[in-house]
Amino acid sequence: MKQSQLFTKTRREAPKDEVSKNAQLLIRAGFIHKEMAGVYDFLPLGLRTLNKIVNIIREEMNAIGGEEMYMSALQDKAKWEATDRWDDEKLDIWFKTKLKNGTEVGLGFTHEEALTSIMKDHIRSYKDLPKAVYQFQNKFRNEARAKSGILRGREFLMKDLYSFNVDLKSHNEYHEKARSAYMKIYERLGIGSLTYVTFASGGTFSKYSHEFQTLCEAGEDIIYVHEARKIAINKEVLTEEVLKDLGVKRADLQERKAIEVGNIFSLGTKFSDALGLNYGDEKGALKPVVMGCYGIGPSRVMGTIAEVWSDDKGLIWPESVAPFKVHLVALLGSDDKVKKAADDLYDSLTTKGIEVLYDDRDCGAGEKFGDSDLIGIPWRYVISEKTLASDSIEIKERKTGKVEMKKMASFL
Ligand code: ATP
Ligand code: MG
Repeated sequence: MKQSQLFTKTRREAPKDEVSKNAQLLIRAGFIHKEMAGVYDFLPLGLRTLNKIVNIIREEMNAIGGEEMYMSALQDKAKWEATDRWDDEKLDIWFKTKLKNGTEVGLGFTHEEALTSIMKDHIRSYKDLPKAVYQFQNKFRNEARAKSGILRGREFLMKDLYSFNVDLKSHNEYHEKARSAYMKIYERLGIGSLTYVTFASGGTFSKYSHEFQTLCEAGEDIIYVHEARKIAINKEVLTEEVLKDLGVKRADLQERKAIEVGNIFSLGTKFSDALGLNYGDEKGALKPVVMGCYGIGPSRVMGTIAEVWSDDKGLIWPESVAPFKVHLVALLGSDDKVKKAADDLYDSLTTKGIEVLYDDRDCGAGEKFGDSDLIGIPWRYVISEKTLASDSIEIKERKTGKVEMKKMASFL
């Protein structure tokens, strides 16, 4: 893509009311736009990165048998009353609205109720199980505090997968598979080394839930990390009993701030009981389906990457999620030699399938380099009269700042 065609511009200052580092950087670099507190739009560069995150998650969900679908945000009150989750007294994050005829509907903040109801049309016998179904879908939550940029949106993208099994044993086996798939996802997203499986409060059906927490000062959670075991305990459940269950000593734990980038809950039969999702077993007896839910917020992940992989100059995207792999910067001289060479290199790289953002704009080197550092594409290729004098281009790695010269001929 040619930068002269990109409608977004970089900016020196973030909006005055934006206090989070991730949103400040992402707004300045032209990845997102702030609509209002907790509400952000994804601009072309931001959407490219978000889609890369989504695709990595999609591949790993497909690899553990997930079937992708897409559900409506509008929620049927009756189903939520059946699980006792409609009342604002019980759940204070609902956005609700009314149809013209007065019927109340909610904007979904999660999809257990809706999906459990769908599955009633499709699961009859043990032969129909196990199943795992997921979607990428916008959730709406009237979050009280929205000061963390895209880490906590009032509307945000979530991948939510739900598993359906005949019993707890097969549920637990799937849970294990999903847990490894999650760690693989965070590895691929470039935050694996900072991300810990964290034992947290589990609700009614399992003693603990599993959160995936990425170490970061901007995080809202406090966790206790066991470095050697690569696990952590959320502060909310840190007790003598938990230490004993996990076989760890308090002295071996370090207190850290972290961002919850995903979580896995065992739901047991809570939703299948309430909504009547049953299957017939081998003997024809009716039994409730055992469920689990598995969430990741791709937009929160993007904010997390911006928080942990950035410096005072700007963003530093891991290659797997960068909007482009190469930022080709042409320092246009007095004649059109540089322009011609850069055009050729751009054509040659894109023909090879390499994603290139080509800074073909008519502006100075300082502005181009500043923007390049801010946008944070992993490799910067510079062509100028100087580099052409030795038939070379200058290659700089954003992450390390390492610079090397390479012959033009090796790219064409
Ligand atoms: P938190 O405790 O941070 O509010 P949660 O426990 O409510 O999160 P879930 O309801 O399980 O989270 O949502 C699943 C995933 O969706 C979370 O792990 C997180 O990655 C993401 N997520 C949750 N709330 C938000 C939000 N307001 N903005 C962006 N992503 C979110
Ligand atoms: Mg929440």
